[in-house]
Amino acid sequence: MTKTKAKSIKPTAVKHIPQRTCVACGRVRAKRELVRLVRTADGVEVDTSGKKAGRGAYLCPAAGCWEAGLKKGRLEHTLHTALTEDNRERLIKYGKELE
Ligand SMILES: [Zn+2]
Repeated sequence: MTKTKAKSIKPTAVKHIPQRTCVACGRVRAKRELVRLVRTADGVEVDTSGKKAGRGAYLCPAAGCWEAGLKKGRLEHTLHTALTEDNRERLIKYGKELE
């Protein structure tokens, strides 16, 4: 009666896949299918490792989403920051090269 029950592993348990929302199109996708952008002291950068500290936002790896997210200010809104023209152009260029 004193025996403590070991943590049972449910056979039906599905591995949890973290999901994120693209700030441009609003589509929910697996985190690894999206590109993370992070706000740093030097502006907004693409976080290829997905591990950089800071406020982050996600975009689909599609030029259309990058343009919409960057030109309509959605990314800035999500990151609570203002992009310099230089920074914006650099990110749009990165988005174009994704396709
Ligand atoms: Zn998208």
